[in-house]
Amino acid sequence: AFEKNTIIVVFGASGDLAKKKTFPALFGLFRQGYLDPSTKIIGYARSDLSLEDLHSRINPHLGKPNGSADDAKVAQFFKMVSYVHGPYDAPEGVAKLKSHIEDLESQMGVQKSHRLLYLALPPSVFLSVATNIKKVLYDPQGITRVVVEKPFGHDLKSARALQNDLAPLFREEELFRIDHYLGKELVKNLLVLRFGNQFLNASWNKDNLQSIQISFKEPFGTEGRGGYFDSIGIIRDVMQNHLLQILTLLTMERPASFDPESIRDEKVKVLKSMAPIDHNDILVGQYTKSEDGSKPAYLDDETVTPDSKCMTFAALSFKIQNERWEGVPIMMRAGKALNEGKVEIRLQYKAVASGVFNNIPNNELVIRVQPDPAVYMKFNAKTPGLSNATQVTDLDLTYSSRYKDFWIPEAYEVLIRDVLLGNHSNFVRDDELDVSWKLFTPLLEYLEGPDGPTPELYPYGARGPDGLIDYLTKHNYVLHSMGNSYTWPITKPE
Ligand code: NAP
Ligand code: NAP
Repeated sequence: AFEKNTIIVVFGASGDLAKKKTFPALFGLFRQGYLDPSTKIIGYARSDLSLEDLHSRINPHLGKPNGSADDAKVAQFFKMVSYVHGPYDAPEGVAKLKSHIEDLESQMGVQKSHRLLYLALPPSVFLSVATNIKKVLYDPQGITRVVVEKPFGHDLKSARALQNDLAPLFREEELFRIDHYLGKELVKNLLVLRFGNQFLNASWNKDNLQSIQISFKEPFGTEGRGGYFDSIGIIRDVMQNHLLQILTLLTMERPASFDPESIRDEKVKVLKSMAPIDHNDILVGQYTKSEDGSKPAYLDDETVTPDSKCMTFAALSFKIQNERWEGVPIMMRAGKALNEGKVEIRLQYKAVASGVFNNIPNNELVIRVQPDPAVYMKFNAKTPGLSNATQVTDLDLTYSSRYKDFWIPEAYEVLIRDVLLGNHSNFVRDDELDVSWKLFTPLLEYLEGPDGPTPELYPYGARGPDGLIDYLTKHNYVLHSMGNSYTWPITKPE
């Protein structure tokens, strides 16, 4: 089912994304047999690199699960790769690339071209490259697919401007906007878990759920790279895009089918049902030195503005105004320099009726996206043995133990393969991007405007600002972990 003789051009091949993600994903697909050996990969950038230079940049980042046994594969892969250097903003450079592509295609005897053009470039050069590609490389008789990377704008206005500039160049079906969270195994699994299991499907609503959390936690700060982060902040960095993608898949209605447009239609619909994000219902923070003084404050980073109010932590809440979700608080929280690194979804069920049970903990379904993908349901059972006491235990699907011999692809591997097959399900559509910026832009304007709040400080390594427990409680989350006997994995009593 793989198209033969595909040409893949990686623009910005000398850069960070190309070496850490794009080339390793192409290699991963090749190693696993999902990239046809007839494929030709061309790196393009201004830097005057030899092919060996390019190889040695990429090589350390290639995943080799079989160690040196994969070296032969690497050698084969590198034979598929060539490099062309030239400017992005002058047609001559791209013309050189064009003749290289045409040489390769004619050697392969290609009738109808299939070109995948991957823009691993900073947004500042994005448009001039796209314009030159259209002018010089676009083959109206063939298939052209263009992959673009975030950021897709900085706010609604800039996102629309970018979209207006791109729209005349490429049709929506030729554009693939990457949000790599959509390539993560458990994010891809959300629709199957929800709609393929009647017990979950039936309880996925306001009658059964009392609170939902989507959390993103990073155990490190900006560590000298804050210059980039300072004008972005945690909301633009991960919430408006990655976490919102999770939120829409978690809350959308059942699509008519699993074809890309049916899924994306439902995503847009649920986004449109969201009330404006309430400015008075947020918690924002910035990290300061760790309690033991060993880890620096955000403001100690020399690359950030001295008295920056940049948010390194935020908790927001969403209200979805439809029959399914009316009244259910849906929280999103994200932070840097926290006590651990993880991304998870936590759905807390309502309490069972009182009477026979005294304060029995609520069920919770946890979908851990990373690290160590897992789905577990915390539920109540009788303590084994003669005791009739109840105890919290779990139904547990931990991927590493359940699916020992499975290859779980990296997000970029999944997404590049989707592009090769022309499948848009896991890419962001133009109207979806527009509604998501509509939702976040007023909040960002308030936060970054003159009346914006001063972030609450939290020490590096904390769970977040002190206000977090109150914030969770205010949004119906009942914290049972303190003083509760639940442990994982379970240990036998003395
Ligand atoms: P990068 O390393 O800064 O840039 C990629 C290449 O573009 C550079 O090697 C450079 O190549 C060229 N370039 C850089 N600045 C330029 C300029 N001002 N004018 C013309 N060319 C310039 O960027 P990246 O980190 O790979 O990111 C590429 C894209 O992916 C960005 O849109 C970024 O937001 C997105 N992204 C990156 C990551 C990541 O992990 N790095 C993750 C998610 C999304 P030459 O000088 O050789 O031409
Ligand atoms: P938990 O530790 O009971 O935490 C539940 C929720 O309460 C989380 O959202 C947590 O926030 C929050 N919370 C806990 N203490 C808090 C505090 N002092 N202030 C504010 N918020 C607080 O989580 P759990 O699901 O019962 O899991 C317990 C442990 O068992 C975890 O380490 C989990 O990974 C492990 N476990 C693993 C598996 C598996 O791998 N399959 C299965 C079951 C359990 P945070 O998210 O910030 O912690």
